[in-house]
Amino acid sequence: MTINPQQARVLSRGRYAASLDAGPEETYDQEFEGLVRQMLVRLGENPEREGLRRTPLRVAKAMDFLTSGYDMQAEEVIRDAIFHEACQDMVLVRDIEFYSLCEHHVLPFFGRAHVGYLPSGKVVGLSKVARVVDVFARRLQVQERLTSQIADALMQGLDAHGVAVVMEASHTCMMMRGVQKQNSTTVTSAMRGTFASDARARAEFMGLLRG
Ligand code: ZN
Repeated sequence: MTINPQQARVLSRGRYAASLDAGPEETYDQEFEGLVRQMLVRLGENPEREGLRRTPLRVAKAMDFLTSGYDMQAEEVIRDAIFHEACQDMVLVRDIEFYSLCEHHVLPFFGRAHVGYLPSGKVVGLSKVARVVDVFARRLQVQERLTSQIADALMQGLDAHGVAVVMEASHTCMMMRGVQKQNSTTVTSAMRGTFASDARARAEFMGLLRG
């Protein structure tokens, strides 16, 4: 039986929500676990040795969790937490921790996101801003696309005058392999609406980030 990616996700949906610790006889997703087992063999390992016996199951669960953003809609996260407020001033949520996987190596990249917006009558619960970051971070990503998807989702969901997103991240694919630059961070930004058109709004945002 061949399963297309969409079906595969539907089949696995919700199961990562179950306990992340594997019970002794538990099976989770035999097909996925089989792929991980093959990878272990390819790496020169013995998947039957004690320490690795339940690794395929753990990896399958972890990967489903780390890509659970595919099952979430940013619009829904925002829609359920909007309230109407006359506030016109900038809202800034700084230092939102995030973890994502680079789509080129399926290795983690992680860091902090800073999200600002200029409301036009609608504001959203602050924790939901962080949830929107997770919706897009928990997928296979490139940092540039991650940054603009967060900005676009908030711009649309809030009908905001402007949205600014800055993300700073360390990429383990750079740190552990290749150029092995442990201390470099990658900074990306996405400016929408007033933040794109008005240098003063942008400068105010950048000033608050430093402050
Ligand atoms: Zn990479």
